Amino acid sequence: MEEKIKICICGGGNGAHVMAGLAAAHARTEVQVLTLYQDEAVVWTEKMKQGDLIIARNNPDRTVEEIKAKPAVITKDAGQATQNADVIIFCVPAFAHKQYFEAIAPYVKENMSIIGLPGQPGFEFQCLDILKDKARSCTILDYESLPWACRLAEFGRKVDLLATKDSLIGSLISGKSQPKHDPVELLQLIFGEHPILIKGNNYLETVLMVKGFAHPALMYGHWMNWDGKPVEEKPLFYQGLTEFAASVLWDVSQEIVNTAKAISKARPEVTMENVEHFESWIIRNYRHTIQDPTNLYTAMKTNTAYGGLVHPMQEISPGKYIPDFHHRYLEEDVPYGLAVTKGVAQIVGVATPCTDKVITWAQGHLGKEFLVGSELKGKEFKDTRAPQAFGLNTLDDLLSLM
Ligand code: NAD
Repeated sequence: MEEKIKICICGGGNGAHVMAGLAAAHARTEVQVLTLYQDEAVVWTEKMKQGDLIIARNNPDRTVEEIKAKPAVITKDAGQATQNADVIIFCVPAFAHKQYFEAIAPYVKENMSIIGLPGQPGFEFQCLDILKDKARSCTILDYESLPWACRLAEFGRKVDLLATKDSLIGSLISGKSQPKHDPVELLQLIFGEHPILIKGNNYLETVLMVKGFAHPALMYGHWMNWDGKPVEEKPLFYQGLTEFAASVLWDVSQEIVNTAKAISKARPEVTMENVEHFESWIIRNYRHTIQDPTNLYTAMKTNTAYGGLVHPMQEISPGKYIPDFHHRYLEEDVPYGLAVTKGVAQIVGVATPCTDKVITWAQGHLGKEFLVGSELKGKEFKDTRAPQAFGLNTLDDLLSLM
């Protein structure tokens, strides 16, 4: 019998459960989960004694299919989790990546594939910074998003796979590696038909394609003039959108598109064609669920796929809510999102007045200082994954990683 391909999956949340379950269910692959957070490894291991991990997959025809499988190992020990693994997949929010890179560093071997699913902006910078030369003998893959919308129903036992994306773009830095198994083919084998994995042009394109910037932009648009008083219900995140919040999102997106254009203008050989404005992206991707595609504002407000989603809030007393400014919409999507696109814009000399306003507002709520005026030189800018935080200060520096 053919030996199974061992895959190490980093993380213990929604996406890690789906990835672990799908890969464990596949005949060709065996799963070793690395979860460093609190006692997740112990709890998940105990849960596995009660039965299989169940993925409840919602199919487009509205049927729900149950996929059952068991990871071979769930551990906090990076040596055990990476043992004989050819592939390491990060399926964990970006704020946790650093500790995973540091944990796996001693065990990374040449020709391994290291996959960010999603990588989120700055994944490559952090990977190369922590793994150093070892990273150069690995394949680094970075996907624009998670392939699924998913939520844990019961930690360690059941996860609801709510929807699967049609396609997913990922970038690849091959370095000197010669992987034993093509990582893209392997992922496609595990995922099945969807999402269709598409090869992007380069990693900078993936950095500028990520859509997480919508979260801080919309939070700023909604809460920038908040008077600090609790509200009586959780506002709808998308359907409750104001024209002002939509205009903030539009402007931030345009600044990112301008950055991509500036890169290709400076270096015509660097293709950035997959960097698209949020307006055309949402209208294209959600064409079946948007009732009024006139513009970004109407598209967001009438997208039934976004129905019912609310702002992240904390209930401070029964029926009284305040915004949760420590939700991943800011904690993840500013230092590992907007600050990175801002850093790239700064390198290529693109002005980003709207992005600057959003970061300046958000950093106040996060209790950090990334930006001073319009420059990434605040006391904590090194806590971001902006290229400057890794000593990458010129376009040549950025292109040298490709
Ligand atoms: P998640 O919110 O389920 O992650 C929670 C897990 O992260 C925890 O179980 C733990 O393992 C780890 N974690 C949490 N806090 C930590 C800390 N302080 N230190 C170390 N580890 C900690 O994440 P997810 O939903 O699986 O999302 C993974 C990535 O995919 C994120 O970048 C997210 O933005 C993106 N994403 C998710 C979805 C989705 O539907 N879940 C959709 C699109 C994109």
